Amino acid sequence: MRKIGIVGAGQAGLQLGLGLLAKGYQAVISSNLTGEQIRNGRVTSSQCMFDRARQNERDLGINFWDDAPKVEGIQFAVCAPDGTSPIEWSSRLDKPAQSIDQRVKMPVWMKEFSDAGGDLRIEDVGIPELEALQQECDLVIVASGKGEIGKLFQRDESRSPFDKPMRALALTYVHGMTPRAEHSAVNFNLIPGVGEYFVFPALTLSGPCEIMVFEGVPGGPMDTWAEAKTPQEHLAKSLDILKTFVPKEYARSKDCVLTDDLGVLAGRFAPTVRKPILTLPSGALALGMGDSVCLNDPITGQGSNNASHCAATYLAAILAHGDRPFDAAFMQATFETYWDYAQFVVGWTNNMLLPPPEHMLKLLGTAQGSPRVAHWFVNGFNDPRTYFPTITDPALTDAFLGEAA
Ligand SMILES: Cc1cc2nc3c(=O)[nH]c(=O)nc-3n(C[C@H](O)[C@H](O)[C@H](O)COP(=O)(O)OP(=O)(O)OC[C@H]3O[C@@H](n4cnc5c(N)ncnc54)[C@H](O)[C@@H]3O)c2cc1C
Repeated sequence: MRKIGIVGAGQAGLQLGLGLLAKGYQAVISSNLTGEQIRNGRVTSSQCMFDRARQNERDLGINFWDDAPKVEGIQFAVCAPDGTSPIEWSSRLDKPAQSIDQRVKMPVWMKEFSDAGGDLRIEDVGIPELEALQQECDLVIVASGKGEIGKLFQRDESRSPFDKPMRALALTYVHGMTPRAEHSAVNFNLIPGVGEYFVFPALTLSGPCEIMVFEGVPGGPMDTWAEAKTPQEHLAKSLDILKTFVPKEYARSKDCVLTDDLGVLAGRFAPTVRKPILTLPSGALALGMGDSVCLNDPITGQGSNNASHCAATYLAAILAHGDRPFDAAFMQATFETYWDYAQFVVGWTNNMLLPPPEHMLKLLGTAQGSPRVAHWFVNGFNDPRTYFPTITDPALTDAFLGEAA
């Protein structure tokens, strides 16, 4: 029986580990946190997952939270300095998205993995532990997210246009927000020159909640999280930003309370794609997966979706490889199969971090009067490949808009 070692018990590592066990493989997952530590720890993400990624979980029978709050659509607004929204439209997703707090999900999946016969080890993996895992397993996969060990994989210059963080990020998990009048949705607000604010329903430890996500342009007025020294100050700052820049969202948020003191997060990182193969001092190889090798800014809400698609791609490749050795050729080909998908997510996400070009503004403005264009854009979050090549070229955008009209 083939044995696969995985570093990291996140979306990618656990989904792959559970998938391997279901197919009769032996699997080891090394995590630097216990399930209890994850559950009792700080929020890590807003983790909104669209239907194609949710299907990966249904395929494995690990979709334990189908009754949790749904995200039924996406609203897009551009906020003007006077508090009005010259552009504001929404459309429904064909199938709902969902966000399950990783503090809820990962401990359950860790237990599921152990119960199904998986070998869950609690250890902070460094090079010696990677070498030992490699001795023991047929293939070692590093799914350590933003963990330091992932930085051993070499940055891929040709696939990483930014070498610094493009947004100051913050999360605020709250109870008590007034629901949208229509269907539930991600309300995405673009504040030119300041950043973006989006908010949507989710499930957290204390039940249904709303997650506020702030994406501040570095050095701008939404990049002031260091001033908030306590969770309550973080909430107050969140509300202050909304009051100043997104008054419509402030109106439905002003009475919110934090879900818990660890339901806040502030940080920043540079979006980075890395080379997928790590050569250890002994000459043995490890393959990178998920955020450890393809880290996107959260502006398009794709990271957990990507991690899920990466895990599904790697599972299929491992199964198809049979008894052949998991050599460098296998590793590179497996990552490139994932990159066939991920390159579009990375391209779109990186574009969203730059001031929008004229043809993108035209597209988003046209969506206001065209349900068809709005539906197309909103449902592209479920599969960003569908934006290409339309969004890459003004002539193609014009042709699409002409056809849609
Ligand atoms: C502010 C913010 C908002 C986000 N919002 C969304 C969103 O709405 N939708 C979306 O799809 N994505 C979102 N993301 C991204 C998403 O959370 C990540 O892309 C996703 O969690 C990546 O999964 P992963 O399994 O690759 O890594 P992770 O989820 O980071 O898991 C890695 C695991 O490895 C462990 N680990 C690290 N180092 C070691 C080590 N040396 N030894 C052992 N274990 C180790 C870590 O503790 C962790 O448990 C957001 C991210 C942020 C920061």
